[in-house]
Amino acid sequence: MSLRKYNQKRDFTKTSEPAGKLPSAKKKKKEPIASYVIHKHAATRLHYDLRLEVDGVLKSWAVPKGPSLNPADKRLAVEVEDHPLDYGSFEGTIPKGEYGGGNVIIWDRGKFLADDPQKQLQKGKLEFALQGEKLAGTFVLLRLPQKESGKNNWLLIKSPDTYAKKTGDITKSKPQSVVSGYTVEEISEVKTMKRRKA
Ligand code: MN
Repeated sequence: MSLRKYNQKRDFTKTSEPAGKLPSAKKKKKEPIASYVIHKHAATRLHYDLRLEVDGVLKSWAVPKGPSLNPADKRLAVEVEDHPLDYGSFEGTIPKGEYGGGNVIIWDRGKFLADDPQKQLQKGKLEFALQGEKLAGTFVLLRLPQKESGKNNWLLIKSPDTYAKKTGDITKSKPQSVVSGYTVEEISEVKTMKRRKA
């Protein structure tokens, strides 16, 4: 696991995102249950960032359409650089002109459960369960053949279980942050107002 790419892409004198540091071995042992977070990120193109805690970092995928509870939907998930665990609590605005500039909210978060996720990821198929505030149940991430996609492209698919839903779109019915309650459009204005008051 390395956060080199993450740090290279960002100027921490300009963005309020956390600088990438790996946790100490002690801290890792204290937390046997892994976490996940899904950011909604209004960058040049709106997308959702799925981040799963694996071996002290957040493995990350950009999902243009966001997650779906319908097992018939296959959502493209483009693997991006590992992010530091601290990134899981980031919400706010990345300045214009900086890497990923735009508003970010914590769209969902909770527990991430998987059997030896590192090994499964290497094999290109990760089966996992989420216990979050919006999402729950089992999902699968499937890596597409590199020849066809040219990138680290995966598919995110809901497994058929009691949490699966064939109708509706959870990204539309529940657009707010699970932390602040604000939408991705509202978040920058609100934070700016708070700063002015302080
Ligand atoms: Mn993003």
